Amino acid sequence: MINVLEVLATMNPNQKVNYDRVLQKMMQKWQDEKRRPTILLHSCCAPCSTYTLEYLADIADITIYFANSNIHPRAEYERRKIVQEEFITAFNQKTGNQVRFLAAPYEPNVFIQMVKEKELTQEPEGGKRCTACFQMRLDIVAKKAAEEGYDYFGSALTLSPKKNSQLINQIGIDIQEFFDTSYLPSDFKKNNGYKRSVEMCKEYDIYRQCYCGCLFAAQQQGVDLKEIQKEASAFVKRHQTKEKEG
Ligand code: SF4
Ligand code: SF4
Repeated sequence: MINVLEVLATMNPNQKVNYDRVLQKMMQKWQDEKRRPTILLHSCCAPCSTYTLEYLADIADITIYFANSNIHPRAEYERRKIVQEEFITAFNQKTGNQVRFLAAPYEPNVFIQMVKEKELTQEPEGGKRCTACFQMRLDIVAKKAAEEGYDYFGSALTLSPKKNSQLINQIGIDIQEFFDTSYLPSDFKKNNGYKRSVEMCKEYDIYRQCYCGCLFAAQQQGVDLKEIQKEASAFVKRHQTKEKEG
């Protein structure tokens, strides 16, 4: 399967890379070769996965990997996980696709310890803590993808206008060197991707969170975490009751 580096080698090195174009070239190649790749795609909650799945699911076998030990508190992590899984079920029902869902173990202490050790607690959103957070999660995704034999690993994070796609792609490209799987480049916000994700959130009635995920950014942003805890716990309880009732 084509590797992102092969496409980058054909592009002007002095120009900012349009990673959506890079992905489109790779998609074209899969189609020319009549191949359907397997992709382990990281997502941290449903919104970024909406348009991303619409974009890719017809031509690739996708598993969404929920690997987000950065999310605080636990109840909010559980809520986002449930919403993600429910969206995939609804998406499959509506489109006839067979996207799968997988979750990594939730290990918040690993994330918090990493942030503290690197002295990144006071970093602003978009700063060095986020770089380390992307690295940690993409590393977990690449490891899992290699273990399970996926052709590619990637992240839906590039859909968010608040996330630095150039940085995320560079991290992914660096990480692929260490694993027996290839990085899937992307910039899903292009071609009105973000706008389409907002529409799809309405269409599927998807919960959209008000903070990125970690305790540190939530505190800086003045998020009422007690309220989040209350709302998320109530959501999870309702979901469990619904499940029990079948
Ligand atoms: S970047 Fe934000 S909106 Fe997108 S999946 Fe992650 S938490 Fe959700
Ligand atoms: S603000 Fe978001 S990306 Fe940055 S460290 Fe926190 S959870 Fe990770």
